[in-house]
Amino acid sequence: MTHPKEEMTLVLVKGDGVQRGLVGEILHRFERVGLKIKAMKMVWPDSSIINTHYDPSNTAWLETVGNKALKGYEKKGIKVDKTALEIGQHVQENLLKYLSAGPVVAFVLQGAHVVEVVRKLVGATDPLSATPGTIRGDYSVDSYGMSDSDDRSIRNLIHASGTVEEAKHEIEIWFDQNELHNYTLPYDEVVYDKKWENKQALLNE
Ligand code: GDP
Ligand code: MG
Repeated sequence: MTHPKEEMTLVLVKGDGVQRGLVGEILHRFERVGLKIKAMKMVWPDSSIINTHYDPSNTAWLETVGNKALKGYEKKGIKVDKTALEIGQHVQENLLKYLSAGPVVAFVLQGAHVVEVVRKLVGATDPLSATPGTIRGDYSVDSYGMSDSDDRSIRNLIHASGTVEEAKHEIEIWFDQNELHNYTLPYDEVVYDKKWENKQALLNE
């Protein structure tokens, strides 16, 4: 049963998450909230797939990433002489090194509001500011400060699509259509069937 409000999102447990032995923990958090695993595999990404996912020619995305970093610097009173685009380009170069450093576990999750639910459970990009209870807040001590001064990507364990549009695009990058599986979970009916209460009432007649 698929409810009209169900969506799909792409998650990557990045190399640091895999090598910290956190794949099970992370998957468990998504399963227990009621999301369905639609597809899953382990991949050691090459530069071609990474550059498709984090596209160095997508200047709008590079500027968003750069502006986010600039805001962080401003908050800390740090002066930076670079444009948002230059910062974004450098983040992208470091991302290429980070994601090609080891195998990642890629999966597609399905459920109501899945993009928003997953981002909520993942937490903020900067683990140091991520709320306790989120994956990045609970399992990482990394920070913008430490990673920037070490000139590397912030090791924040996990990627999750930011919007429904981004999710559609990213799922196509990592999975073929025939790798997405349709199956039911025993609790689908309890979560999504609008007639569930009526059915329960019938059982007790
Ligand atoms: P996300 O959606 O929360 O993963 O964040 P973005 O899509 O903005 O950035 C992609 C990834 O690049 C992040 O998860 C970090 O690993 C890394 N990253 C982004 N911005 C910065 C930055 O300013 N400094 C460093 N060191 N890494 C960054
Ligand atoms: Mg992102």
